[in-house]
Amino acid sequence: MSTIREIISSAYDRLEEAHWNIHQMEENYHESDPFRFALNSFIRVIKEVPQILQMELQNRDGFKEWYINRRRLTTQDPLISDLFKKRDIVVHKSMLRPKSSAVLGITEGRGFKLGLGLPLDPFQDSDVLIIQYLFLNNEKEGEEDIFGILGSDEESLPCIERHWGLDPFEEGILELAVQAWNTIASLINDTVIWLGEDPSELHLTLKCIHSSAAVSVRTYRRDWIQTINSDIKKGIEFYEAMYKLKVLRHRA
Ligand SMILES: [Zn+2]
Repeated sequence: MSTIREIISSAYDRLEEAHWNIHQMEENYHESDPFRFALNSFIRVIKEVPQILQMELQNRDGFKEWYINRRRLTTQDPLISDLFKKRDIVVHKSMLRPKSSAVLGITEGRGFKLGLGLPLDPFQDSDVLIIQYLFLNNEKEGEEDIFGILGSDEESLPCIERHWGLDPFEEGILELAVQAWNTIASLINDTVIWLGEDPSELHLTLKCIHSSAAVSVRTYRRDWIQTINSDIKKGIEFYEAMYKLKVLRHRA
């Protein structure tokens, strides 16, 4: 007798891979390429699950008849249907361009004290905004530092809050990914029940919390800002300042 884990091993493995992709998006939330690559993988992987599930079970009596209708329920879900279309674009045509914006400002503990909403190219890392700010400020000789990003207030920290989205949806990408993952997981759940097996043998709910709020704010230590600012005054290039910031963060 095979266990349910063995019966649908490939589909279940893909579902776990999609979960891992969500973690990758979280870990790389502020780095455009790794974030987008994890998102692209997520979208590819979730579309494979229903197909693989069908392949693994198609020889069982009555499965196909039942599954066609159940699968349709999943693919008609507005989010799933949209992501599956985006997957075909990613695989066959072009790059996916997520929505991206950010707020540059000052944070005190939780939440913003002051901030300025700015567009942020989806193909740029979050750090670009703060480095741009420093270069601009340097040109204007510090006159425009209204948020005190260059100041030395120890109670607050300069920060960037980033938002990633996907048209036509309002929610953040992490929230959309969790929602899509749950919809695909419920297809597996119902299939396991149809097979007369116990879905609790598998992990079909996300025990960990994935939310944009936990990762969307990146703070910058005052001493990093001051180090880079004085390097800018000495004439370093934009890409050198970007690199220096990464080095300072890694050392911290
Ligand atoms: Zn997780």
